[in-house]
Amino acid sequence: MTNRLSPARVRFAPSPTGSIHLGSARTALFNYLLARQTGGQFILRIEDTDRKRLVEGAEQEIYEGLHWMGLQWDEGPDIGGPCEPYRQSERKEIYQEYGRKLVEMGAGYYCFCTADRLAKVREEQQRRKESPHYDGTCRLLDPDEAAKRVATGEKHVIRFKMPREGTTTVTDHLRGDIIFENKHLDDYILMKSDGFALYHLAASIDDHLMGITHVIRGSEWLPTFSLHALIHRAFGWQEPTWCHLSVFLKPSGKGKMSKRDAVELRNDGNSFFLKDLESLGYLPNAVVNWVALMGWSFDDHSEFFTLPDLVEKFSIDKLNPAPAAINFTKFDHFNGLHIRSLSADELASRLVPYFERAGIQADRETLVKIAPIIRERMVTLDEAPELAGFFFKAEVTPEPTDLIAKGLTATQSAEAARKSYEVLATLPEITAENAEPPMRALVETLGWSLGQVFGILRVAVTGQKVSPPLFESMAIIGRDKVLARIQTAIDLLEKMV
Ligand code: GLU
Repeated sequence: MTNRLSPARVRFAPSPTGSIHLGSARTALFNYLLARQTGGQFILRIEDTDRKRLVEGAEQEIYEGLHWMGLQWDEGPDIGGPCEPYRQSERKEIYQEYGRKLVEMGAGYYCFCTADRLAKVREEQQRRKESPHYDGTCRLLDPDEAAKRVATGEKHVIRFKMPREGTTTVTDHLRGDIIFENKHLDDYILMKSDGFALYHLAASIDDHLMGITHVIRGSEWLPTFSLHALIHRAFGWQEPTWCHLSVFLKPSGKGKMSKRDAVELRNDGNSFFLKDLESLGYLPNAVVNWVALMGWSFDDHSEFFTLPDLVEKFSIDKLNPAPAAINFTKFDHFNGLHIRSLSADELASRLVPYFERAGIQADRETLVKIAPIIRERMVTLDEAPELAGFFFKAEVTPEPTDLIAKGLTATQSAEAARKSYEVLATLPEITAENAEPPMRALVETLGWSLGQVFGILRVAVTGQKVSPPLFESMAIIGRDKVLARIQTAIDLLEKMV
């Protein structure tokens, strides 16, 4: 069991190679939770050693995504910290020093094989139906000889000297011991000829130098897990607790999520990318809640969690390595729950940008009033302008035919509207409490149904067939505007008579 008293130092180590997706969001979250609940540190490290794959603006997007989710880091490239720098491209000399050490210790070696030669080796292996691997030519070189060639400036890389026989056992916190057959392990390149370290070396060195106690990361790193453990062992460093999280299944449940699936989801309006979720109307709390339950559970029934709940209840001992389903229906469900858990004030603040984007000038005072009556009706926040835009318009433009109630003629509908006008006009102001009883009484005397008469009023006052509760809406719109809108409806109806 995790000792809750020992502070964990964990890191989220994204490569700025594209948009931050739900997989990374979950990795970041679990690391954050462990740090916060143990009183440890959550470190942000930017792994940008692969210069060819860098995407402009991706680092900024990482910052924004984490902030949006509410995951503040304690050390990172933007805020510094005791283990600076936190961007791997600024740690080149550190990796070179450790790369040299690895060779000096005999755990790594210089390799001078040219790209041409390696291509030929691969071809030959393919012909023999072997999986591609380095054939070990330079492993046999005399180390002094190799060092001399390096000193003369000959182009070289550094490879890890993998054990050739027997097995390597590594321990994953979720899966227990994993045994790798050494004969299947390759002599990976750790340092490229341009002096840049590869991820495996850079991450291992940084995890050690930054005092990382738990490495919580995606399961795509399981195949090279033994390499990371062996690098630690070669240097005599204590290994962190390793946790490789579960893979994501496609929403259909059939097969693993791929990059292509993520793009397809986005095209279908159900994005896998964090930056899209805000504009699609999802709350960060809902994202946090949803991804937390992909591969972790508290018990077999609790499902509503806020970030502070999770800090308290999360446990790496309950992480589950079984593939996690991506269920967008569940996501909508969580979003609804979190929308309803917001206060009117909070919801009003959250709604502001959606109205702005829809080109509707929504004043805060009215937003706070409408928040409680639309809260129950929304699955995503972007629905608000359509649902409640009528509150902010000078006038509404109902579809004239929508004003004719089902089962009534235009003449009858006009009469219903006129009579309603008369009743409402007698009130000094409209509130839900004072308007509804006389209106119900009116409907009774008219002999039509509530649905018919209130339906006409709904279209008249809101301009739409579906709206928040009618009388509460009227109260917010205000008596004069309500009467003016009903008058317009009467005029429209009379034209159709
Ligand atoms: N830079 C790696 C990635 O983006 C980090 C993997 C790790 O956490 O070790 O997947």
